[in-house]
Amino acid sequence: MTTDNDVIRDWLERATAVLEEHAAELDELDRAVGDGDHGTNMLRGFRAALDSVVADDSPARNIKHVGMALVSNVGGASGPLFGTFFLRAGQAWGSPVSTASLARAMRLGLEGVVARGKAEVGDATMVDTLAPTIESLEASVAADVDLQDAIGEAVAAAQEGAESTRPLVARRGRASYLGERSIGHLDPGAVSASLLVSTLSADHD
Ligand code: ADP
Ligand code: MG
Ligand code: MG
Repeated sequence: MTTDNDVIRDWLERATAVLEEHAAELDELDRAVGDGDHGTNMLRGFRAALDSVVADDSPARNIKHVGMALVSNVGGASGPLFGTFFLRAGQAWGSPVSTASLARAMRLGLEGVVARGKAEVGDATMVDTLAPTIESLEASVAADVDLQDAIGEAVAAAQEGAESTRPLVARRGRASYLGERSIGHLDPGAVSASLLVSTLSADHD
């Protein structure tokens, strides 16, 4: 029998594998606008998150363990931010996951990220990926789209969101120190957020 915790663990395995595959590329993106550690940070965090899942705990608690693992192990600015996302999402985690429960949990997660980091859409951060992803999920809830199709649309929204950071002036985090020189570069956290959204689909890769 596949439990809801197995679903979370399987997702974390896919996420960690995709971060392994893209860590060097994420470091490279971060070298252009920051300090070159974003892929390394995320991989360390997700390896710890995978280890943090406790089979006997509820799925909601396990999502919170993911958040704590990211806060405690990532090191960079992205750790507390992605960590807060999961800590908050855990507060509204529904099992089994539906389009509506995923949208609600991710909306709460994003509210936590914004409360903590103060970034708005257009500041060239992970928020530029997360906000349109969640809007897409919410539109799917309104249109009664099933979870797999909703995730497919959300993945496309996430990719567009990440790509939208390229022409922007970064206004938060280290990249903001570059001012206009950040124009023309993808935001590393927006790209990692998009990669993570892509792994929501079980048939990823
Ligand atoms: P650091 O900048 O401390 O080295 P990382 O390189 O791991 O941390 O993460 C950088 C990413 O964190 C950025 O690409 C951006 O997406 C995200 N980020 C930084 N500051 C903020 C913020 N205030 N709000 C939202 N996201 C942010
Ligand atoms: Mg960095
Ligand atoms: Mg750093």
